[in-house]
Amino acid sequence: MKSGDCTRFQFCPKCGGRLTVKKLDHLPRQVCQECGFIFYQNSKPTASAIITNSQGQLLLVKRNMNPRKGYWDLPGGFLEEGEDPIKGLKREMKEELNVNVKVGSLVGIYIDDYSCSYQSKTLNIAYVAKPLKGKMTPMDDVSEIKWFSKTKIPWKQLAFPWMHAVLRDWLGR
Ligand SMILES: [Zn+2]
Repeated sequence: MKSGDCTRFQFCPKCGGRLTVKKLDHLPRQVCQECGFIFYQNSKPTASAIITNSQGQLLLVKRNMNPRKGYWDLPGGFLEEGEDPIKGLKREMKEELNVNVKVGSLVGIYIDDYSCSYQSKTLNIAYVAKPLKGKMTPMDDVSEIKWFSKTKIPWKQLAFPWMHAVLRDWLGR
């Protein structure tokens, strides 16, 4: 079975009936042959932080897990179902950097693809954030944290394409 197509799931999560592909709203969607359940899919939301120090340097974190292990990422992560993005970002900063942050203005929202497989499209929400007191420590799925000057951002070692867009928007502010 090909990844990235919409035939990955075989059975209805509601009744166990077989799923079939139908064009609805001009898009192929999986529909249950038994109960008519439509298996809508959406991009998965994430929240990330743009954190700078007193010299205006940007904080990036090195990914400790795949996809893109060893590449530089913005600190952040996937939101849980129903989770407020600002609360989710604060939770992620505690998990990843062991720090409480004050979340500031929205930088933007960017569509991307996490792992180029089925159901891996992401909707990435980026905020400016400010760490409150305490020392940031790499934890969880981060192996290293590092400050980069605006002229020395490691563009070729960034984990995901959307980071290029968000960092350009942030630099152009
Ligand atoms: Zn069904």
